[in-house]
Amino acid sequence: MRDTLKHQGKRNQLAELLEGKGITSKAVLDAIRSVPRHLFMDSGFEDHAYQDKAFPIAAGQTISQPYTVAYQSELLEVSPGDKILEIGTGSGYQTAVLLKLGARVYTVERQLSLFKKTSLFFKKMGYRPKRYVFGDGYKGLPEEAPFDSIIVTAGAPMIPKPLMSQLKVGGRLVIPVGGEEQTMLLIRRTGEREFERRECGSFRFVPLLEDKKG
Ligand code: SAH
Repeated sequence: MRDTLKHQGKRNQLAELLEGKGITSKAVLDAIRSVPRHLFMDSGFEDHAYQDKAFPIAAGQTISQPYTVAYQSELLEVSPGDKILEIGTGSGYQTAVLLKLGARVYTVERQLSLFKKTSLFFKKMGYRPKRYVFGDGYKGLPEEAPFDSIIVTAGAPMIPKPLMSQLKVGGRLVIPVGGEEQTMLLIRRTGEREFERRECGSFRFVPLLEDKKG
């Protein structure tokens, strides 16, 4: 698959749609305009890549809906150079959006087949997260902590404690918490032991799973 003017046109339309749905960050909308989402998906979905929908990727997982990616990215308030931990690399689309925003990205995926597939894809495309780790996101990435922000792209039954402790003071954690339907939570670490929490709407993610799987 290639990236063409036709794809670019569809991306411009998608960015407009997301703006209409309430995304205001110009940097986030620019990232949506620039990252070729169709290349992160199987070729059978190429024609649908710029609809505002989630689609299946490998290993029973999904590439998140563009609105969700834009919304979580906006909640992170990324500044260029921010050190960001992403849990649930999946297709790598959210990773690419964060890279486009100028973040230094550390990303963790627990499914080996998907991890390998996306590794090759990052290399082919020249996307360079600081680290791409096969591991269990419930544990975060202690050896690289602390982070300016942490984003979780799968539905968690509760907030994993290690993610809270791996935030810098002033840092933000964006995580969907719940069962089949989740509430998007924005947690801000306001002090060594103080956290503020805001609820930011309902979403449906695939579940954040326990333990690594080959
Ligand atoms: N941001 C991705 C979303 C993929 S879906 C995209 O847009 O493509 C969520 C991903 O989280 C899946 O790839 C799934 O395998 C991964 N995941 C689930 N539980 C995990 C865990 N405990 N640690 C790390 N990744 C996990």
